[in-house]
Amino acid sequence: MSFGTQPIVIFLTINDIPRHSATINIPTRKNNVTPPYRALKNESCARFWGWCALVFLGAGTAGAWDYSSHSVINQLALASLPTNFPAFVLAPAQRERIAFLSGEPDRWRSNPGLSLRNANGPDHYIDLEELKLCDLTPDQLPPLRYTFAALFAQARAAHPERFEAINPEMDQDQTRELTGFLPWTIVEYTDKLESCFSYLKTFERAGGTPAEIANAQADVVYVMGVMGHFVGDGSQPLHTTIHFNGWVGDNPHGYTTNRTFHAWIDGGYFRKTGEPKLETLAGKIHPAESVGEEGRPDGLFRAVVAYLVDQNELVETLYQLEKEGKLFGEGEQGLAGRPFLEGQLIKGGQMLGNIWWTAWLHAPEDFYLRGQLEQRSARNSSAPAK
Ligand SMILES: [Zn+2]
Repeated sequence: MSFGTQPIVIFLTINDIPRHSATINIPTRKNNVTPPYRALKNESCARFWGWCALVFLGAGTAGAWDYSSHSVINQLALASLPTNFPAFVLAPAQRERIAFLSGEPDRWRSNPGLSLRNANGPDHYIDLEELKLCDLTPDQLPPLRYTFAALFAQARAAHPERFEAINPEMDQDQTRELTGFLPWTIVEYTDKLESCFSYLKTFERAGGTPAEIANAQADVVYVMGVMGHFVGDGSQPLHTTIHFNGWVGDNPHGYTTNRTFHAWIDGGYFRKTGEPKLETLAGKIHPAESVGEEGRPDGLFRAVVAYLVDQNELVETLYQLEKEGKLFGEGEQGLAGRPFLEGQLIKGGQMLGNIWWTAWLHAPEDFYLRGQLEQRSARNSSAPAK
């Protein structure tokens, strides 16, 4: 699959989006956007940390023009792993695989199936300002996805005046009533990774065959790579906000309302000023640390929400940089915003490494599998010799 022409197509599409204004106290914008808001949200993922499919046919290098920011984030995370993390993930072939997989959730978007679009699209973002619509703060978010979805739906039913009406013709994948599931997606993938580590540990300790261990390792690599996409999305401030593509609603500071802004931050700026250098950024990565309050069932979820809130708090900083010409991409002033964007890549890589490490650290042994392996071993040892 080639993404070679996709960014151009998306860019032109975003340019065509008409300006939309808030009709309620919180400017949701959803129903004034063409193409559908959710589609735009999804497209933005592809571009912002995108270009993944092009990039990582060779791992461990950086600086090519089409260098993928998503791939950079996954590689920065690899650079953070302590030496007692399973070493197989650092083999060249696995590094390459993990980097390549950073683009997988965006590749899914190329499939027109509504089921996948419905399930995958809202996983890439959360518009934190919209939590007000259901009288929640980020700290009050329930840690379970469908509990939140129900709360949001209940709020829409109880307070329809808070929400813009949805045009069914623009909502074929039925995602426009949603405000995004990014924190739940990240935590669910962390649980999947922990599960992979659990059965890997058990296969290794309790008599798994080489093929079983290799399969478990392959699963670890797959989940690590795919989930890296979503943690990377979270480090892009525009994936956490209603102001995802130009400021909306009240605009006392006169921030840009240009609907090329997201595309520019996605990849245009780096393409113009030079792709980020892995070898430079990796020097700013620290050894991974466990995230989430120990002993608290929702500790990881709270840490992920805090991570996203931190990026949301930088949305205005990003717009301010643009206003000051520091994201123009030419001249000394136009390059001044580059450290900010590179810093976001580092934050994404660091958070991802921390989450990978946490999953490994906390993965319990799979006792059901251990029992099965022990029974198999007993059967084999008691079988009469032929
Ligand atoms: Zn995405």
